[in-house]
Amino acid sequence: MAGPRLLERARAPRHLQFNPFVLGGYRPASSGAGCLRSLFYLHNELGNIYTHGLPLVGFALLVPGALPRAPPAVAWLGLGHYVACVAPPLASVLYHLFMSHRAGAGLYRRLLALDLCGVALVNTLGAVPIIYCALPCRPGPCGAALGAYGALCGLALWGAVGAGSRAGRLAAFAGPALFRLAVVGLRGAVGLGPPAALAPYARMEALALLGGLVNVARVPERWRPGAFDYWANSHQLMHLLVALGILQLHWGVAADLHWAARHPCPTA
Ligand SMILES: [Zn+2]
Repeated sequence: MAGPRLLERARAPRHLQFNPFVLGGYRPASSGAGCLRSLFYLHNELGNIYTHGLPLVGFALLVPGALPRAPPAVAWLGLGHYVACVAPPLASVLYHLFMSHRAGAGLYRRLLALDLCGVALVNTLGAVPIIYCALPCRPGPCGAALGAYGALCGLALWGAVGAGSRAGRLAAFAGPALFRLAVVGLRGAVGLGPPAALAPYARMEALALLGGLVNVARVPERWRPGAFDYWANSHQLMHLLVALGILQLHWGVAADLHWAARHPCPTA
């Protein structure tokens, strides 16, 4: 499909000029239908849309079949995990697809907040099985740990929405990440939950950190401004690393939930 005439950076809406090394391929401001049509022609957000759009379809279709259905407590954990896997790519697709809407900077800020909410959801819900399997069948301590972690995630979201830079947004999520690493380390040291879940969780943290750093560094487009406007720029690489990170989370959680289904808590 032939799209509208694309814009150089200097002619793009100012709120879309956030990457000084992406020099062209900007969509002009358009209606919602115009944003949807941009799914079908090449512009500088197309790669960002599809690097989360395709994983979104994959997670939405494949995650449920990999999780145990019963008992009910495990099924609820599975439902939360499904939301954790689907929310970030869904929010990201909406952000990248509609950021050129003619409603302008106000809508853009709301879409950016939505994108960050997706990150916050995978942070929060994604870690629930990790913590649950560290304190199985101990509702008091488990509830306290989940409450503390939830408070950390709330602070992280507040800090990320208020941060004025990519580095600030990345740093805002350091607290929950350190908490998760401490729980995974404790599980490995004490032997809590299935050992098979720990390596995917460690890989997930490494991929998320690497993705965040690539996005902050704006590599490789920093080295050749204009050469990565459409493909293989830092944001697309970050998207791919995040999608791989969610896949690792899923493998860890699937191992945890199958373990939890095989080890039901004794009824008093
Ligand atoms: Zn993105």
